[in-house]
Amino acid sequence: MYKLQSVIGSVILIIFLYACTPSQPTTKTNVLNKPADSETDVKGNKRMSAWEMQNYHKNLPKAAPPAERKTSGRETKKEIKKEMNPTVAVIKPEDPVGQTSVNNNIVTSASFAYRSKEYYKFITDSIQAVSAKAAYYQIADSMMRMMTQLPINSKNPAIDLTQWYTTPNFNIRKPNYVMLHHTAQTTAEQTLYTFSIQRTGVSAHYVVSRDGTVYQMLNDYMKAWHSGIGRWGSVNDMNSCSLGIEIDNNGSEPFSDAQINGLLKLLTYLKKEYQIPQENFIGHSDYAPSRKNDPSKYFPWKKLADAGFGYWYDTLNLKDPPADFNPIMALRIIGYDTKKPMDAIKAFKLHFIQNDVSSTLSDYDKKILYNVYLKY
Ligand SMILES: [Zn+2]
Repeated sequence: MYKLQSVIGSVILIIFLYACTPSQPTTKTNVLNKPADSETDVKGNKRMSAWEMQNYHKNLPKAAPPAERKTSGRETKKEIKKEMNPTVAVIKPEDPVGQTSVNNNIVTSASFAYRSKEYYKFITDSIQAVSAKAAYYQIADSMMRMMTQLPINSKNPAIDLTQWYTTPNFNIRKPNYVMLHHTAQTTAEQTLYTFSIQRTGVSAHYVVSRDGTVYQMLNDYMKAWHSGIGRWGSVNDMNSCSLGIEIDNNGSEPFSDAQINGLLKLLTYLKKEYQIPQENFIGHSDYAPSRKNDPSKYFPWKKLADAGFGYWYDTLNLKDPPADFNPIMALRIIGYDTKKPMDAIKAFKLHFIQNDVSSTLSDYDKKILYNVYLKY
């Protein structure tokens, strides 16, 4: 009976909406209007409305203080900010393209002192409850408003503003690359904290902790600030077309099996969901060879390639390249920016040779390069 009432209700609502809809919309959609509760995603799960998202943070539980801190757990925004100040480094943003960023580390500062994992968890939970979640939904909302702008607001001088047409045949652009990083930090909690504060100007879609737990910080369709200046093939704004994944690792230690298994689970989902080509799983150092060295030489690229993420050479089938083989051209075809050939060679070696990152190619290195190049 309930279902029947609901169907009749839906039919009446559709007829009503159809009758009331003007032939051309004259105002922008206010995405903060509380929508009907029946909004669901393609899989039938209830989708959080923009209104609910905007108000989500108001219902969040208060963060609990860590054992080592004596605090009421009800710190104000001002108190949290005051506490953050002595240890937070000034970090240049990884976006927009055209600005430089710090070398190799998310956080670089002589005055930086690592606090405990519990401290970062506490302060991050507080920041999330006080400001980060609200800011997230506010920014997402402004993005949604931007996407629903009418042509009459267009700044484009090339279009005819006297009449306009819309098409119902569209959806949203999807990510087509995955860029992998190591955090160069001490714990995932520290990285979650770094990405929770606005003035760091850096972010990623996902953070993979050492025990394999994966945290998502940004919707896959949004642009994170993780790549900065660089070039891969013809792409020079990787933030716009990639998903950024930060792997908790200090840069001079192996990656645990649990962590790589967590990463592989995530990559398997992303590859299938967005149909990302195998060759489009790359490292930050591949994209920005002169600035970045992450992920480090300890990163198991072969294991990833065996699972279908990125390519690796055929270890049992290495042949000498032909006499006219041009290594720089091969690097370029793979995707490396060869404007600075020595940097491109170093980045290639960090990825494929790993134990030697000099800027020259030995005969063995050339065999590997030739073998990889044939896969592109
Ligand atoms: Zn990086």
